[in-house]
Amino acid sequence: MRLIMLGAPGAGKGTQAARVAAELKIPHISTGDIFRANIKNGTELGKKAKAFMDAGKLVPDELTCDLVADRLAQADCAGGFILDGFPRTIPQAEALDKVVAELGTKIDYAVNIDVPDEAIIERMSGRRACLSCGATYHVVYNPPKTEGICDTCGQPLVLREDDKPETVQTRLSVYHEQTQPLIEYYGAKNALVSVDGTKPMDEVFADILKVIGK
Ligand code: ADP
Ligand code: AMP
Repeated sequence: MRLIMLGAPGAGKGTQAARVAAELKIPHISTGDIFRANIKNGTELGKKAKAFMDAGKLVPDELTCDLVADRLAQADCAGGFILDGFPRTIPQAEALDKVVAELGTKIDYAVNIDVPDEAIIERMSGRRACLSCGATYHVVYNPPKTEGICDTCGQPLVLREDDKPETVQTRLSVYHEQTQPLIEYYGAKNALVSVDGTKPMDEVFADILKVIGK
């Protein structure tokens, strides 16, 4: 199955994508995680992406689309994949359509996780991220077993620079301007399914499996 996750920053895309990927045994591809790994490793791409990310802006499409095309062409994506954080603009969605068409496939579902802006700031300020393995926690809703340490890989957890409230406001504006139009885009292709992202994580997960017919 070929899935994409839509939703505001902090809606729960990464949390749910990781669970759905494990359930369906398909790779979880997060462009945000790929950029953060590049920043950590000091690559040219990381250097270019960092300023945009720290400011809460989108990394330009020309740095993003080829990276996803290369990733989707890898052998582990042949049986399906779940994209988290891509596409985020109409040109990215069009580029993705082209890539999947060239691979002889299509996107089965765009899963929209619906969370109002009011709930987002609290989610983001409580989010703690592992920059080593990409796991995400929340100090109240999904705390790690040991405070500040990743359950999966034992590395220290951080509050992401772009999760500070002033940057979250910018990210929400960017979302409404550039990413929200994708809801209509995938609706017009009859690929859109939506779930209520304000419910507890386990319920959101069950709802997603239901709407994708699993
Ligand atoms: P996104 O990938 O959409 O930016 P995340 O999956 O990282 O969002 O979730 C943002 C924050 O909200 C994280 O700290 C996560 O643990 C928490 N979270 C995710 N889903 C829920 C939920 N259903 N209820 C409460 N908190 C949640
Ligand atoms: P995320 O981890 O999905 O919250 O993404 C963190 C940041 O990475 C975003 O705020 C953007 O700056 C950048 N980013 C991730 N995915 C994309 C994308 N598809 N297009 C542009 N920028 C992206």
